[in-house]
Amino acid sequence: MATEFKPRRFIAGAVCPKCAEMDKTVMYRVSEVEQVRECIRCGFKESIRDDDVAVNEPPTRVNQPRAGEAPLAHEDEVRVVSILDPKAKPERRDH
Ligand SMILES: [Zn+2]
Repeated sequence: MATEFKPRRFIAGAVCPKCAEMDKTVMYRVSEVEQVRECIRCGFKESIRDDDVAVNEPPTRVNQPRAGEAPLAHEDEVRVVSILDPKAKPERRDH
């Protein structure tokens, strides 16, 4: 496999945790789920997995009732809403 070009993006204002140099940190993707943060000054490297960032929630939320799904007898869906904001009307928004 030939060496492929990986587009690097500088992270504005990012400080390298090793050499403390600012604006010397680049980020590039190495796989579907992993990015690397690299300092071009001292060579510090850190891999960041996308699931650490939790941009997308995994569809395996077994502990919570899904939207549109009737809660089980022992579960209280209204209680979950009222914890977040007791004064808000429980609105259902499908997205
Ligand atoms: Zn550095």
